[in-house]
Amino acid sequence: MSENTTDTIRAIVDTIRNTQDISLEQLSAILDTDDREAIDYLQAQAREVAQSIYGNAVYMRGLIEFSNYCRNNCRYCGIRRDNRLAERYRLDDDTILECCRLGYSCGLRTFVLQGGEDGHYTDERMVALVQRIRTEFPDCAITLSLGERSRDSYQRLFDAGANRYLLRHETADPDHYAHLHPAEMSWEHRMQCLRDLRDIGYQVGAGFMVGSPGQTHATLLKDLHFIRDFRPEMCGIGPFIAAQHTPFAHEPNGSVEQTLRLLSLIRLLHPHVLLPATTALGTLNAFGRERGIQAGANVVMPNLSPTENRPKYSIYDGKICLGDDISHCRSCLETRIASVGYRMVVDRGDYKS
Ligand code: SAH
Repeated sequence: MSENTTDTIRAIVDTIRNTQDISLEQLSAILDTDDREAIDYLQAQAREVAQSIYGNAVYMRGLIEFSNYCRNNCRYCGIRRDNRLAERYRLDDDTILECCRLGYSCGLRTFVLQGGEDGHYTDERMVALVQRIRTEFPDCAITLSLGERSRDSYQRLFDAGANRYLLRHETADPDHYAHLHPAEMSWEHRMQCLRDLRDIGYQVGAGFMVGSPGQTHATLLKDLHFIRDFRPEMCGIGPFIAAQHTPFAHEPNGSVEQTLRLLSLIRLLHPHVLLPATTALGTLNAFGRERGIQAGANVVMPNLSPTENRPKYSIYDGKICLGDDISHCRSCLETRIASVGYRMVVDRGDYKS
């Protein structure tokens, strides 16, 4: 039971909104309270901030999970290298283009190419693919989410026509990072990648899981300060969900409620950020994405991957929307978003600075 009254927490929310700063004490007060009224107030403030910049628009990004081969061994991830039970696949360029065409016909104007760190996709291959998409869809944004690559590689992909890059920082605490990843992976290098992407001119997405093993209020505070200071154009957060055949298979899942509170805090600390209501949130709660929008999110990411491949991109267990084609996903999301008073727009949905 938290000792803070509704009024105390409301005052904390006002201070965070006005100063765009947060202390450990304030964060704990918000994460620990069971005062519904105070949390409703937090969410209302976050919505108001989002609406003052983006109105009631929610942007769609078509997610194409094009390869689940990965050289990395992140302890939380279901497609980590050592998971011999993951059935591997990669999509060829024609299939990826076909996904884009289908998405375009459903009103999507951003394509997100996400995958494991798959050595098959050399710079030459990726550049050729990005150029093809750029040529066929000049009015669309191309977002890449391919993990850590060299600065030169990021530059070549940018020059080929990519606009945005999603690379969650995963945690802003180096010791926590070492708990989530094997020793061969480096927190410093991931952070350097984010800076390189920013320097090159990408709109950059950072982010983290909520409730990942070893996460504390102190590590979350570092995440929030990092988001506020680095000011990524996008920030992807969703609950950690245990994935079978991984070292964290038996760890408890993250909480939907805490994810919603953190979405609201991110909105208050970095008002302009493009903030997805993630599939992971929708996986743990049937109305998770709607509630995410109500907590201040303004992006949804329907899955454009061919349905036969989707179950294989199992970064966590129980992922939703595995069998639904994109036109179904679009109208489903449109209805869900309208049910909470927002409208899905056909737009690239660029960051508003
Ligand atoms: N290889 C790319 C894409 C990773 S998948 C990269 O390195 O950026 C995208 C995100 O899914 C990850 O950044 C991670 O935050 C999230 N993720 C992975 N496993 C997860 C799990 N078990 N539960 C919830 N989110 C997970």
